[in-house]
Amino acid sequence: MKKVAVFCGSSLGFNEIYKNDAIKLGLYFAKNNIGLVYGGGKIGMMGVIADTIIEKKGEVIGVIPGLLRHEEVAHTNITEMIVTKTMSKRKVRISKLVDGYIALPGGFGTLDEIFEALTLNQLGIEKKPVGILNTNGFFNHLIKQLDVMVTEGYLKQSNKEMLIVSESVDDLITKMFNYKAPEMSKVINKVVR
Ligand code: AMP
Repeated sequence: MKKVAVFCGSSLGFNEIYKNDAIKLGLYFAKNNIGLVYGGGKIGMMGVIADTIIEKKGEVIGVIPGLLRHEEVAHTNITEMIVTKTMSKRKVRISKLVDGYIALPGGFGTLDEIFEALTLNQLGIEKKPVGILNTNGFFNHLIKQLDVMVTEGYLKQSNKEMLIVSESVDDLITKMFNYKAPEMSKVINKVVR
């Protein structure tokens, strides 16, 4: 994986443990020459991971819709900032740049982005690893909800398993490197059956 999209909060959260893991992930990217592609903000978890990588002279590409660019929140010191016309164009642009996706703790925006990536994989439109860094068990309830979707017949177990979950940065990225997407015909079978 040369470039990975990281979706994460525009807020920092109340517990330092989340910020510390954003720093850990940033240091891992810089050390292993993985470029960060992200929402382009300088605030919250987004700002922390971008600043960490820039400080270590790594690559940070922001992809921001014009609408947000002129607010106080856009980062001004990253490798490259790509400005898109709309939020949806931003998603397409990000997906063209990256080899995988990671979500760190965040809110609506983070969930929207990571579930879009999962949906693209479920439909076989993309075959890229999608992971969540489950710092402090932050996503445990969400994972339980996915189990409910499986038991109630709205999500195939095999599609649920596309989501890679780990509480450790090293383990998460190792699993992402080893990820093999299911055969597309099987995926479509499971979606329509
Ligand atoms: P949230 O999880 O609701 O805080 O939203 C964070 C996610 O949505 C990030 O991964 C960004 O891509 C996007 N996002 C939300 N707010 C902003 C912002 N002010 N500037 C840039 N991207 C943002």
